[in-house]
Amino acid sequence: MSPTLVCIFQMKVQYIEEVASDNTWKVFYTPQGSDDLHMVTAHIVIRAAGTLGSNEILLRSKEKGLVVSERLGEGYSSNGDQLGIVVLRCRVS
Ligand SMILES: Cc1cc2nc3c(=O)[nH]c(=O)nc-3n(C[C@H](O)[C@H](O)[C@H](O)COP(=O)(O)OP(=O)(O)OC[C@H]3O[C@@H](n4cnc5c(N)ncnc54)[C@H](O)[C@@H]3O)c2cc1C
Repeated sequence: MSPTLVCIFQMKVQYIEEVASDNTWKVFYTPQGSDDLHMVTAHIVIRAAGTLGSNEILLRSKEKGLVVSERLGEGYSSNGDQLGIVVLRCRVS
């Protein structure tokens, strides 16, 4: 059977689960603007949710039982010398 590629857009990955018995992964996600939890299975999962998103997914997965390093989320820093946050308050009259 030829490999199948399925693209699902506008989804937020909530967490992943390892199914050790058949060497697969379950990826749980919610469509944008919805709390309905959906799931796909895969033999290979590539996490590419950026620095914050990937940590977030793994921390939620840890809560669901995924075994990860105890140091997940620690030792965090930017790749520059400074990291700033700007908060703008706009007054609408
Ligand atoms: C201000 C700024 C300037 C930068 N300038 C440069 C530069 O000049 N040169 C350079 O080489 N690099 C630069 N970088 C770094 C570069 O942007 C990152 O290294 C690169 O974008 C990382 O790519 P990525 O695909 O891993 O993650 P990202 O580009 O962050 O992509 C992650 C994607 O995953 C999505 N996502 C997150 N969480 C979930 C979820 N739960 N479910 C589904 N999708 C999710 C996000 O919406 C996003 O679309 C800069 C970064 C910043 C913040």
